[in-house]
Amino acid sequence: MPTILPASPTFLALAGLLGLALGSFASCAVYRYVAELSMLKPLRSFCPKCGASLAWWENIPILSFIILRGKCHHCKAPISLRYPLIELLMAAWTAAVAWRYGFSAQWLALTAFGLLFIVASFIDFAIFILPDLLTLPGAVLAFPVAVWVLGVSWEMSLLGAAIGAGLFWTIQILYRAIRKQEGLGLGDVKLMLLIGALTGAKALPLVITVGAFSGLAASVVYMLRPGANGLKTRIPFGPFLSLGAMLYLLFGRGLV
Ligand SMILES: [Zn+2]
Repeated sequence: MPTILPASPTFLALAGLLGLALGSFASCAVYRYVAELSMLKPLRSFCPKCGASLAWWENIPILSFIILRGKCHHCKAPISLRYPLIELLMAAWTAAVAWRYGFSAQWLALTAFGLLFIVASFIDFAIFILPDLLTLPGAVLAFPVAVWVLGVSWEMSLLGAAIGAGLFWTIQILYRAIRKQEGLGLGDVKLMLLIGALTGAKALPLVITVGAFSGLAASVVYMLRPGANGLKTRIPFGPFLSLGAMLYLLFGRGLV
């Protein structure tokens, strides 16, 4: 796919601003999914604590958090750090992809998949679920995007999906048989279907290595938290597999 415009400082800045807006949407989607609220009603953002509708100036990505000093203007309840964090991550991703691919179909496709990875990951962090609503349509779309936009051969895309999902499904079954408890969820299997199709089979060693090492590092943090259950502490794996996939999509091919 040809690049329409190469990466320029103006385009990077615009991409970052778009990323902030998408991040604001992403943090709202995560909150509403986790709280089992409608995605559309009410359309306006509101304080989860006191329910007050937010004025435009209370709803600007990052800036409002700083202006409000992390507290609701109406009831002074603390605003979760998750909101500015998701906004910053999405902005960084959108600008980084713009730097790597310029204004192109790749940039558009990877911005969309980054949004999916970030929303799914933060839902997984919060409630240990990777929603089918995200992973399954994502897996269906990943194949044409990989082949027609990212230049992955169709054989590699299909093989990536089959190996990625097959491997994690096998691990899931073995873990359940040996430990008599769930280690990996089926959500991770479906996420690997998506990632394998999107990146192709050649990317899987890198994606899984990054996922395993960052997941292992995070599990130490999880086990040291108060109320942790030793080796039985639950750890979401989706965010770390997503991290592996995103690093590959940004820097990959040259790396493998
Ligand atoms: Zn409030």
